Amino acid sequence: MADPKAEVNPNHVHSLHCGHTKILHHDHIDFVEANGHLHHKHEDHWDECRIEVSEQNPDGEHPVEGEIHNQYCGHEQVPHGDHMDYLVNGRLQHVHGDHVDDHGPVDIVS
Ligand SMILES: [Zn+2]
Ligand SMILES: [Zn+2]
Ligand SMILES: [Zn+2]
Ligand SMILES: [Zn+2]
Ligand SMILES: [Zn+2]
Repeated sequence: MADPKAEVNPNHVHSLHCGHTKILHHDHIDFVEANGHLHHKHEDHWDECRIEVSEQNPDGEHPVEGEIHNQYCGHEQVPHGDHMDYLVNGRLQHVHGDHVDDHGPVDIVS
């Protein structure tokens, strides 16, 4: 199944220096959009992406100490499996009720 095409901002062209957070994902780079979408370039267009549940990025219960993130806390959101996570120091963190679950590392391109 092909990824859905992404809605792109016509006034912004992503590049390695564009200021968006970039995640190395398999053989491509995903750009983290402010609305919590991951976009990656596919030939002449942009596709939506998400981090899949894997050994490196498990979902479920992995509670860690830390801030209960919210949409105003300043951390970016990325789609993971069937939910949204916050990106914190290169790791996915999932707010789950009154605690936060760690969902593993991603490769940030700096
Ligand atoms: Zn950009
Ligand atoms: Zn991707
Ligand atoms: Zn939990
Ligand atoms: Zn936060
Ligand atoms: Zn997650």
